Amino acid sequence: MDRVVWRLEIPAGWGERLDPAWLPNEGTDGWREVFAGEDYAARVFASGGAGIPWKVLAQAAARLAEVLQHYRAQWRCAEAVASGCPVAADAHVAAMAVPRGLRAPRRTRPDGPWRVCVLDDGVPATVAEHLSIDLAEGAACAHRTGAADQAWWAEPVAAGPAPDRAAASGWLPIADTELRLSAFAAEEAVADLTAAAATGHLGPDVLEVRLVCTLGEAAHHMIREYRTLFAAVWTDLEACAEAATHDADASALLESLPPAPERGPGGRWHHMHLVGGRAKVVNRHLSRTAAAASVAASRAIDDTTVRWAEPAARTAARG
Ligand SMILES: [Zn+2]
Repeated sequence: MDRVVWRLEIPAGWGERLDPAWLPNEGTDGWREVFAGEDYAARVFASGGAGIPWKVLAQAAARLAEVLQHYRAQWRCAEAVASGCPVAADAHVAAMAVPRGLRAPRRTRPDGPWRVCVLDDGVPATVAEHLSIDLAEGAACAHRTGAADQAWWAEPVAAGPAPDRAAASGWLPIADTELRLSAFAAEEAVADLTAAAATGHLGPDVLEVRLVCTLGEAAHHMIREYRTLFAAVWTDLEACAEAATHDADASALLESLPPAPERGPGGRWHHMHLVGGRAKVVNRHLSRTAAAASVAASRAIDDTTVRWAEPAARTAARG
């Protein structure tokens, strides 16, 4: 039987600074319900699953982790408003930073440089190269936030020559950029692995109830971290002389976001791995989310092979 070798580390303090009574002043009733739903799910996971069948728990964990993409989209909107303030941009952006010394969650991942790529008008292109997979996968994740018509992914530099440079460039966080990107990468890893369980890429023989519950609790920690950050930045924005404009701008930005930014376009996607310095297809999928779930399922039980998801158009362009 396969054993889960993948590990996630959530540093002390991450998601633990939240005032549990805090509620936003705007849309208070809606948020109260959202937070109560998140906290209820977390209590079920903390109880060890409360005797709920594995499949239902896996689906609940996946739904909870899926929430993170919406918090990232909210974060992008909050940052746009904060950094665009004519009177207090610096203070607003400072309010978005985490306390000094706080580290981002980390997950098992391969070493080496990775590049961030995009399908630019249907043609694979390179946007950036990073020294670690955390920054590259985090950047691809950030770029996807709100980009309904662009397919973003990260691939290992070792997988062969880079596509040409892209004209397109996506959003990157301003406050705590590297920490935020690492956090995005860890959040997406949890979302992909729970999605893998919920959609049958992994079964209870591998990802037992205890691990599904641990992943659900991890997702809740990550959600609480966002709630902590929003408590700080929204309080700061509400105290601004431009508060009314900020509120209107944030609402307009949120409404302009695509409904499911993480699903992304790009046609068919492939689960890839690196064999003898060459990129090879492991299996083929209809969507990015399915390919990413397949990659996450394999990464969970194999920490030596380098794996990633890319659009089929990228694989074709490799020749
Ligand atoms: Zn302001």
